[in-house]
Amino acid sequence: MTRADPVTVDTARLPLLLSELRLPTVNRLWTPFAERAEQEGWPPARFLAALLEHELAERHQRRIQRHLQDARLPPGKSFATFDFAAVPSLGKARILALGAGGSWLDKGANLLLFGPPGTGKSHLAAALGDALVATGYRVLFTRTTDMVQKLQAARRDLTLAATLDKLDKYDLLILDDLSYVRKDQAETSVLFELISARYERRSILITANASFGTWDSVFPDPAMTVAAIDRLVHHATILEMNTESYRRRAALSRTNRRADADAADPPQTGTA
Ligand code: ADP
Ligand code: MG
Repeated sequence: MTRADPVTVDTARLPLLLSELRLPTVNRLWTPFAERAEQEGWPPARFLAALLEHELAERHQRRIQRHLQDARLPPGKSFATFDFAAVPSLGKARILALGAGGSWLDKGANLLLFGPPGTGKSHLAAALGDALVATGYRVLFTRTTDMVQKLQAARRDLTLAATLDKLDKYDLLILDDLSYVRKDQAETSVLFELISARYERRSILITANASFGTWDSVFPDPAMTVAAIDRLVHHATILEMNTESYRRRAALSRTNRRADADAADPPQTGTA
């Protein structure tokens, strides 16, 4: 800007300038803040800093909100709704530490959650994802079969490499229910390509009903099964949810509560 090219200052243009500069929070707050600044005699620097701090804080919130939508986590499955006492072997502190991210995500380590149906694998995976997004990480939750289909379509379109590259933006890819993938349904070596592409760079969380013994039915041949498992477990935390089905237990405890209530307050029978 030279003296020959003076800036016109027109406060009426403020809303336009702020929207042009993409500062929606400043746009919303500057009027009430200006009133307060005048009343309380804030120096101009304080007024400006207060507005910009709010802009930054809301920008951060908006980003996390976007990442949360993008993560496609199942609703309602958070740490807040997870009953850690139901799976004492897990260790709550250890799980919460994993949910804070840090070194395991930085080095692309993996997390494997094994256990029979109904033991809370999907819930725990989603809760970890939810906590990580809130901390600022990028997460994608998907059924393994959906991911396999998506990657197969990409391979047919000759865009597999680009699709795998795009998944790199996620610090953690949650592949729910690996055991439901069947190699006879379709060719599943794309899953191996995904595992190889992320190896030692980007983390994967896998849930499965059965541990490695049955994975031969997932990958096209035994050598590929071994190679996939080898890469997955090289840097991995393996958690076994060896409890009874939470659904079944919840149903049983409802029945027991009803039985207890009936015992405490027996139905009136016979004559008084
Ligand atoms: P899995 O994926 O192992 O088959 P889910 O995570 O789908 O099991 O759990 C089955 C149901 O039980 C879900 O509604 C889930 O929210 C609930 N559930 C499982 N474990 C717990 C737990 N420890 N605390 C609270 N709810 C749980
Ligand atoms: Mg599940």
